[in-house]
Amino acid sequence: MTATTETRPFEAEVAQVLRLVTHSLYSHKDIFLRELVSNASDACDKLRFEAIGQPELLGDDAALHIEVEFDKDAKTLSVRDNGIGMSREEVVANLGSIASSGTRRFLESLSGEQQADARLIGQFGVGFYSAFVVADKVTVLTRRAGTDAGAGVRWESDGKGEYSLATEDLAARGTAVVLHLKDADLEFADHWKLRDLIHTYSDHVAFPIRMKQYKDGKPTAEWETVNNASALWAKSKSDISDDEYKAFYKSLGHDFADPLAWTHNRVEGSQRFTTLLFIPAQPPLDLLMGARDERRGLKLYIKRVFIMDAAEELLPNYLRFVRGVVDADDLPLNVSREILQHNRQIEKIKASCVKRVLDLIEKLAKDEPEKFKTFCRAFGNTLKEGIVEDPTNRARIARLLRFASTNGQGAEQNVSLDDYIGRMQPGQDTIWYVSADSYKAAAGSPQLEAFKAKGIEVLLMFDRVDEWILGQFTEYEGKPLKNVAKGELPLDAADKQKQEEAAKAAEPLVKKLKELLGDQVTDVRVSARLTDSPSCLALSDYELAPHLARLLREAGQEVPDSKPTLEINPAHALVKRIETESDAAKAKDLAQLLLEQAEITAGASLADPSAFVQRMNRLLAG
Ligand code: ADP
Ligand code: MG
Repeated sequence: MTATTETRPFEAEVAQVLRLVTHSLYSHKDIFLRELVSNASDACDKLRFEAIGQPELLGDDAALHIEVEFDKDAKTLSVRDNGIGMSREEVVANLGSIASSGTRRFLESLSGEQQADARLIGQFGVGFYSAFVVADKVTVLTRRAGTDAGAGVRWESDGKGEYSLATEDLAARGTAVVLHLKDADLEFADHWKLRDLIHTYSDHVAFPIRMKQYKDGKPTAEWETVNNASALWAKSKSDISDDEYKAFYKSLGHDFADPLAWTHNRVEGSQRFTTLLFIPAQPPLDLLMGARDERRGLKLYIKRVFIMDAAEELLPNYLRFVRGVVDADDLPLNVSREILQHNRQIEKIKASCVKRVLDLIEKLAKDEPEKFKTFCRAFGNTLKEGIVEDPTNRARIARLLRFASTNGQGAEQNVSLDDYIGRMQPGQDTIWYVSADSYKAAAGSPQLEAFKAKGIEVLLMFDRVDEWILGQFTEYEGKPLKNVAKGELPLDAADKQKQEEAAKAAEPLVKKLKELLGDQVTDVRVSARLTDSPSCLALSDYELAPHLARLLREAGQEVPDSKPTLEINPAHALVKRIETESDAAKAKDLAQLLLEQAEITAGASLADPSAFVQRMNRLLAG
């Protein structure tokens, strides 16, 4: 019985995804098979999980498996599973629209002509549509487990703008995806080619993937299992090759690239569990999007049964780049997400995951400098969040952080706090940093001048996360971290005396400037920070950095108005000119400019930019 066929348009985003996928994956055609097999495997996982509470769902077909079959003459390739299947509503929701909010954000982030990085495509939940890279028509036949033959659904599309839906009697539950191969892609209707792809991409799918046995170039009636079909993490480390780990990571993380490193551990004792954790070599999609996709990351298994994606429960946010598997022996199979969130065993597993990942990063830092560099570039700023998020591990995390510094090479963040301490000047007990909203602004801060003159290294902080962690990261190894723009400078007795003399000598000038600037400033004083620049802003201990205040205001947040403290360099020609300028209007312009320069270099926004320009022009025109 075939009911009337209904035709529906794809949701607009699907059409966009289809275009993107077929273009971007053109040079990675192979991956369609990995994606379809991965969906089939997910479907088997879901059924196995639902069957824990409803064993009758499995019926007399309990051996969950995947079949890959082709027909050269008909030019078709099918991927079938006896997993959960889909109802009509599920077909519409899953194959006709884009459900994942992460995918939507990703699409929105691609402007017009921009080509998506093919590496990322497989990660954002459009795996199914990759079928259209090699097929000009795709037919899906599916029936939800627990329904009867009449509930079967036929979905069909050429991937252009519409799909058709019909009801069809299907004898078995599960899903068959039938690709009508493009003429140019008939290479995929080949036994050895398919076996090879399955071996490469899907060997450790935990369900058997079967193909018809081949004899003398012809298929026989016998099925044989062509993948390893074992849970890789359950094997002993010594039985797993690096290549197997790498291949497993690629299928788990939907990545094309090898992982940077991994750690595989079995914990015995009062609580038994296995963790297999990978650090990717490049930031995964959700990280680039700046938002965590709770579906990606860490898979929780209980005694080999996939339970759920549980990255949020098993990893802190600052390790959200980690991909992997946790298999726990002692949790109840019917565990729910709510239970996971308040479970002592889960807390222990989470702590163990954190420890393993930090161990692994430490090992990279110690033994594999090149890989560690790659790690820092990709995830260094994410790891920094751990300073705030994970106070228990703060010291370990801090040791792993790398920063740019006045002693480093450009904007590259490669100076550790230990390096810094090793280079401290005799008598120096403070770790100094400057913060700004770009490398250039940090490296060019006038506040650095006195430090450079004395040969004191200063860390350059210019990432937004730096500002956030610095609020709580106030010491390392017993040494305080201080902002060069804040508070008192470490002056020795001779310096102090010089400073006092300079301040004394400049008293009339300071008085003049205070009058000229009026209530725009809290204070004007002679700076110990400057050698070359005429002026800079100094902050009190609890004052927000001006660039940060600007960012927060731009983001619509209330920031209390605070008037700056202006520090001046009486030796500078501009400052000297103000001292001697007898024309009151000119002196006022110059004083105003002195303040505005300090504000600009500190990354503050000018209160009145057009007045600033007019003033500049008045002075330049003489
Ligand atoms: P993802 O696997 O990341 O969710 P896909 O585009 O690969 O994205 O698949 C979309 C959805 O279609 C899946 O989430 C699933 O609900 C459904 N689906 C795809 N293939 C199957 C299948 N073989 N059996 C059951 N459901 C499937
Ligand atoms: Mg998928």
